[in-house]
Amino acid sequence: MGWEDGVRRVEPYVPGEQPKRTDIIKLNTNECPYPPAPEVKAALAELDYETFRLYPDPDCGELVGALADYYGVSKKQVFVGIGSDDVLAMAFLTFFGTGKPILFPDITYSFYDVWANLFRIPYEQIPLDDAFEIRTQDYIGRDCGGIVIANPNAPTGVLLPLSELEKIISANRDVVVIVDEAYIDFGGESALPLLEKYDNLMVVQTFSKSRAMAGMRIGFALGNEKLISYLSDCRFSFNSYPMNRPALAAGAAAIKNDRYFKETCGRIIDTRERVKEELKELGFSFTDSMTNFVFARHEKVPAKEIFGMLKEKGIYVRYFAKPRIDDHLRITIGTDAEMDRLMAVLREYLVG
Ligand code: PMP
Repeated sequence: MGWEDGVRRVEPYVPGEQPKRTDIIKLNTNECPYPPAPEVKAALAELDYETFRLYPDPDCGELVGALADYYGVSKKQVFVGIGSDDVLAMAFLTFFGTGKPILFPDITYSFYDVWANLFRIPYEQIPLDDAFEIRTQDYIGRDCGGIVIANPNAPTGVLLPLSELEKIISANRDVVVIVDEAYIDFGGESALPLLEKYDNLMVVQTFSKSRAMAGMRIGFALGNEKLISYLSDCRFSFNSYPMNRPALAAGAAAIKNDRYFKETCGRIIDTRERVKEELKELGFSFTDSMTNFVFARHEKVPAKEIFGMLKEKGIYVRYFAKPRIDDHLRITIGTDAEMDRLMAVLREYLVG
């Protein structure tokens, strides 16, 4: 018997590459190509570094209060964490303890199975249909331990209409349904209004995409007070001070400028729709993405080949060597200039 016999062995999640080079066009991890709201810069400039000797507010009151006001809920309905990854991990730990398998799609955010394995939660991956759509009925009448739906889904970009999502939530009142809305601000309809109706619903969002703050690591969940209090109990059994002072200040500041937020999302949506048209002309087919990325395959040229070609030209996109999706590329929507460059390189390679 050696010490390794007692090790919790896990296969970790592999995030997209974060290259040291800065002279590239980075379209591989769904970051926002625009800066955060100017209020964030001002809030960070006002921080007094001397306060860093003190622990931050364990209740994250400033940020929680800003989110509660913005979404029209009570502070007790808000939970914040170090990116939505942290929030989701906590939720898996808190809510999925029945021993019954939790359900999520076979093609979805590839951290879900990693957390399930980490926490020894059994799970079943339900195949999406051939159009990469969720079949609602697959999640109804199942004796499961919980459900996780990314909406819109990643990396497919496909949005499940709220009416369909509600069928899943209402048919599973005895387990927690987590709706991961990392990309909801790019054209989807949020499940937040359903919180009043369903106490088994938890909605998770992030500042990493639509609020241009991936580097600050801010995510949050909204749910009914009881659900959030269970989540907080687990959080405070793990780490009393989840968020650091700069993140709390920057997050609260970002919420203040709604006009900037909506404009930024609008620009990304406009660019996305234009890029769809241009990709079509080059022989790509894709889902009707409602996110800040497109998920596309070329009719003739393998995705892996295009991925390598683009990388050589200094354009990073994401390629998943996984069954069902290894013929696809996930391309984050950058600035118009970045997408023009991408299109020019693709056009030259594919059309000549
Ligand atoms: N959910 C989904 C569906 C995602 O694509 C991501 C981004 N990798 C996350 C959650 C986590 O994002 P973050 O931790 O930056 O909030």
